This record gives sequence, structure tokens and C-alpha cells, in this order.
Amino acid sequence: MPERDDIVVMKFGGTSVAGPQEIKRAARRIVSAREAGNRVVAVLSARGKSTDELVAAAFEISDRPDPREMDMLLSTGERISCALASMAINDMGHKAVSLTGSQAGIVTDSSHTKARIIDVRADRIKETLGKEQIVLVAGFQGVSTDSRDVTTLGRGGSDTTAVAIAAALGASVCEIYTDVTGVFSADPRIVPGARKLPVVSYEEMLEMSASGAKVLQLRSVEYARNYNVPIHCRSSFEDLPGTLVLPESETMERPIITAVTHSDDESRVTVVGVRDEPGIAGRIFTALAEANVNVDVIIQNEPVGDDALADLSFTVDRDDLPTAVDVIGELGEISHSVRTDERIGKVSIVGAGMRTNPGVAAKVFEVLGREHINIEMISTSPIKISCVIPADEVKHAVQSLHAAFDLGDDAILPDDPTGENPTVPGL
Ligand code: ADP
Ligand code: ASP
Ligand code: MG
Repeated sequence: MPERDDIVVMKFGGTSVAGPQEIKRAARRIVSAREAGNRVVAVLSARGKSTDELVAAAFEISDRPDPREMDMLLSTGERISCALASMAINDMGHKAVSLTGSQAGIVTDSSHTKARIIDVRADRIKETLGKEQIVLVAGFQGVSTDSRDVTTLGRGGSDTTAVAIAAALGASVCEIYTDVTGVFSADPRIVPGARKLPVVSYEEMLEMSASGAKVLQLRSVEYARNYNVPIHCRSSFEDLPGTLVLPESETMERPIITAVTHSDDESRVTVVGVRDEPGIAGRIFTALAEANVNVDVIIQNEPVGDDALADLSFTVDRDDLPTAVDVIGELGEISHSVRTDERIGKVSIVGAGMRTNPGVAAKVFEVLGREHINIEMISTSPIKISCVIPADEVKHAVQSLHAAFDLGDDAILPDDPTGENPTVPGL
């Protein structure tokens, strides 16, 4: 953990800066880190649900808000938090300076509402730290040097701002302060007996974030892995050790199954009666990629019989559904029709030990079957199994799988300290 005169990056999420008391609490924490001798950069999110409120305000005005203007609007939330926290810190006798993403040198591409950070020009942050001042950076935003416009990084993007700044400054740790005490074996709001994981590897955290564990934005974990930034995810409200996210080589604990994750903010698109000829899938998915639509699970069956047509289904983030439907429509005569399910559920099981332990998939399907939960689509990676299920069954599925794999508080941990031959109860 931090040594004297280290640079520490601390990120506070929406709940952690929701009201005046929370802002003052975060300010005290920032000041304590400074008084312990660190140089401190704090990245703040918008207060409470204010980003949701800004999104709702945009949709009260327009069905398809202009993406550039959407970013102008959304970027205001984090600026408010930073200015207020800076006032609190100044009242505590320290000097703090708040910066927008653009002032902090966060350079992105120009894809509005889901921009990628391409550079962090940290000279202004370094200069300010050099003057013994605390730097507060508005999370979730940057500037495109191509268009010179303000951009935002996608929901949850302040995590990525913090990790990118930690990487640029060579910080000893990126601390993510949030409303839970760390990363758990399932969302603790759905499984109250979920276990806090002391350490998770980047690889496992990537799969967890990709399959719905919002506690860390997926891109922040990608960035941390690429630049080797240790993440410490911990509580804003209690001074407890949280979860360290580290390279695989530094994680001691390697159970077969690490966590059950879920998502209920995806939609499904089914392209019905697709012509069965080479190149069609290529056209569909190239067009979706060009429109910046992330596709997750894909299923296509080989049509049976001559001249038969295939059905192709895939899942996308619900926010991307209108764009995905437009994109397919613009491809012209490739299918009979397009069907959509606006709300689907997904439950996943993640664990690095799955790679060498057959039987996990069978057990997942068996548990869901026993609970009368119909599996509509399946996708796997070497360390993850995801099942698309009805959205209103998600909670039940997460709870059943968590119990069946014994992942809870009283879970028996692998008894082999080398992690070479871990055992998992119930398998
Ligand atoms: P913040 O506003 O601090 O960025 P988020 O709401 O983005 O916080 O992320 C924290 C939330 O992530 C928690 O309140 C929790 O409900 C949810 N969550 C989902 N899966 C997990 C998990 N496996 N471990 C911990 N939290 C999780
Ligand atoms: N305020 C943004 C959101 O709610 C970004 C963040 O909190 O990380 O998604
Ligand atoms: Mg978040």
C-alpha cells in the first residue's frame, strides 16, 4: 500500500458524493490521504442519481438526443461534484483545484457517449501536484482532439478516468471508493450472503465486469490490466480493506468458481429468415461495429432443408437497441423481418479454475433446469458461462447458482495453498 510521497488516485462514485454530508466525508478522506504524506488526485462521479436525471431530462426534450449535446449535458454532473468537494477541502485548510476532464488532459476519440481514452496529457495535473495542491478531476469525460468537443466515456466511466490517470502518473494504487465494501461473489444487493473477495485477477474481473458486475466499469479493468495498475475497490463509508484487483501471478487464491454475475439491461435482436449465403453475417456485424454497437451473445442455426432461411439472434446493450435496429434496416433485403426483445436477462458464472475443470457448464444447466428457469441462449469463454434467461428470473437464477456452488460467506476455500489443485464444494 502507499508509501510516503506516493501519488494516490482516489475515485468516489455517485453514492459517495450524493449529498453535502457525503461530499464532506469524501473530502475528509482525501485530506487524510494528503496528510499521510501522499500527493492526491481524486476523481469524482456525478452526485447520486444525477446522471440518470440528466439522461431523463434529455429524453423529455427529444426521442433521439443529439450525441454531442448529450455529452455536453452529461459532463456537467461530475463538474458539480468536483467544485463542491474542492470547496469542502479548502475549508479544511488544504488547497484543492477542480479540473474538467479536458483541463486534466483526458484525450478521447470522438465517439460521443462511449468515447475511449486515447491519451492522458497529465502535465497540468503534475504541475498542480507540484504546487502541493490536491487535484480533483471530473470523471467520465474527456475531449476529442479531432472534433474539439466534450465527450463522455459510457456509464460507469469515472472508474476508467481514475485508472487512466493512475497509469499516467505511475500512481502506486488506484482506489475506487464505492457503496459496497469490495467486489463480492455476487451482487450483495441480490445475494446478501455473498462473500467479499480479498483479491481478484484482472482476467476474472474483466469477465465479471463484461457480464454485468457494475462495481468496476469494464474499460477500467482493461486499462488497469494493460498498464498494470493495481486497483483497490473499497467502501467510502467504512475504513476497511476492500478487494485488490491484480495480475494473475499475484493472486494467491484460485477457486474454480469466483462469482455469479448478472445483467438485466440488455436486449435481443432476432433477424428472421436471413439468406443462407456467405458474407451476410459479415455484413451485419461489420455494420453494427461501424455504428459502435457492442454485440454480446450471438446464435445462428444452420437452416434445415433446401432454400431454408436461418434465424440470427444477438444481444446488445439496451441503450443500443434503436441503433442496432436502424443498422439492420439500412442493410436492405437480407431477411424477412427483425424482431426485438427489449428486456432480457443474463446470468453468468466466472472462475479461472473452470478452464481445467469439466462439469461446471453441466451443473449450471442442471441448476437452472431444476429451478424451472428456461435457458434461451448460451455463450462461453474459457473462464465464463453465460445464459440468457427471462429478465424476471434473474434474481432467482443468481441466488440458486450462488447457493449451488457454495460461494457464500461460509464457503470452504480451496484447501491447497499453492492453488494447483483447488477443490470446490458441490462439484
Ligand atoms: P459507484 O456509483 O460507486 O460507481 P456503482 O453503482 O457503479 O457504484 O457500483 C457499485 C454497485 O455494484 C454496488 O452497489 C452493487 O450493487 C453492484 N455490484 C454488482 N455486482 C457486484 C459484485 N459482484 N460485487 C460488488 N458489487 C456489485
Ligand atoms: N456519472 C456517470 C454514471 O452515472 C459516470 C460514473 O458514475 O462513473 O454513469
Ligand atoms: Mg460505478
